[in-house]
Amino acid sequence: MEDVFALHESRMKVHLAALEKEGVKVFKVSTTEREEFKACRRKWDYASLSRQGIEPKRAAMPLWFGTGVHEGLEHYYKSEADPVEVFDAWAEKSIQEMKEDKEIKWDEATAKQFDESCDLGRKMLENYVTWASIADYSEEIGFAKVLYTEREFQVPILDGNGNVARFVDRNDQEWEMHLVGRLDLVVEDFHGRLWLLDHKTTKDKLDPETLVLNDQMVNYLWAVQQIFGRPFEGVYYNALRKKVPTVPPLLKNGKGLSKAKLIDSTPEVYMQAIEDNDLDPDDYTEILEHLRSKPNTFFQREKLRRNQYEIKLQGYLLYLEAIDMLNDPFIYPNMTWNCKYMCDYKELCKAESRGDDTEWLRTAMYRKRKVDGVYDRTKTVAE
Ligand code: SF4
Repeated sequence: MEDVFALHESRMKVHLAALEKEGVKVFKVSTTEREEFKACRRKWDYASLSRQGIEPKRAAMPLWFGTGVHEGLEHYYKSEADPVEVFDAWAEKSIQEMKEDKEIKWDEATAKQFDESCDLGRKMLENYVTWASIADYSEEIGFAKVLYTEREFQVPILDGNGNVARFVDRNDQEWEMHLVGRLDLVVEDFHGRLWLLDHKTTKDKLDPETLVLNDQMVNYLWAVQQIFGRPFEGVYYNALRKKVPTVPPLLKNGKGLSKAKLIDSTPEVYMQAIEDNDLDPDDYTEILEHLRSKPNTFFQREKLRRNQYEIKLQGYLLYLEAIDMLNDPFIYPNMTWNCKYMCDYKELCKAESRGDDTEWLRTAMYRKRKVDGVYDRTKTVAE
């Protein structure tokens, strides 16, 4: 099979070399950056690699955890590797790197938090394999083929006439704007249609209405259609809940397992507990039937179709947003109820709003962001 991503990348290399010769710079836009720009200009200014590009000097647990689970799933779908082994090896290496990084504060509490997360990741992936071995083959939420796993892309953004967009800033510098990102899976369904599949680790159940109102994957659909030159049908959202099924506790008299129907578990885990305690499955028919009749709440796969109108429109909106980012925008904060929980820059933001001298805080708590691949602004294309 022809590797369309490799073909696209080699075309991009030629294109980027021509841009360099012409003196045209490339402005890389990621979906996170778009979201930050629209949610809070000040946060965007702190985080964006084309602005201050700083990040907190501490281990970012949610990002770390999601990356590890993605790593396990990538190898599971690429080469049928055991995702738990892949996750374990990745976690061990990355934890070692964090411990050796002098800028990251590593103490007992952090170590404990990471240990617990490793345990959770392992169990989630172990259970995922059991679930996916049926779900991936089902007519309703399965797929016929995995075409690509974990691919980075860089695609020129188009103007309203479908031409590669350029922008000249107030210093007379000409720019081309490119969307960059990383796709989890490209799959083909049982009718030969193409879809993206996006893995998500989540605390809560995915709400289909929330997914419809989130445009991140529409951007990715737009980009991947530029690369494939073929329409895509939509996106499979593949959610792994950050929770493992509860093992039923033994009764106080030790003569059996609790049959409480509110248990947050699966029939497989309950059955395992029966076997582990040498009990008779016939005594648990009712609770097992109850668990079998409930939908699996630990994994969720939602298929969301997108039509060509919305995909094309999203491409155009990208163009408008990229120009706004390049066009020397005003920078101001957008303080909301979410800042306390959702912003890594809140200490710096508060200090700046108070008019404090922020230099010390900046050095003590933040450092220059480190990124690679298509996100690296010092390289024009992933090497
Ligand atoms: S704390 Fe709120 S206002 Fe300040 S940078 Fe973060 S998101 Fe923006």
